Amino acid sequence: MPTKHAIHHGKRIHIRCRRCGRRAYHIRKKRCAACGFGVSKRMKGYSWGRKTLNRSRRID
Ligand SMILES: [Zn+2]
Repeated sequence: MPTKHAIHHGKRIHIRCRRCGRRAYHIRKKRCAACGFGVSKRMKGYSWGRKTLNRSRRID
C-alpha cells in the first residue's frame, strides 16, 4: 500500500523564525506558531516549554 508523501506539495509552509529560531514561522500567515512572532510582541508560552535551539541542524 503506497504511502502519500505529498503533504505540502513541495511548498514550504514554515520557515525558520528569526525570533525563536524554530522552523515554525508561517510564510503566508506571517506568524510563528511556536513563539507568536508576527502576532504578539511578547513571546508566546513559557521558556521551559521551549526546546533548545539546535543551530547545527538546517531547519528552514
Ligand atoms: Zn518563533
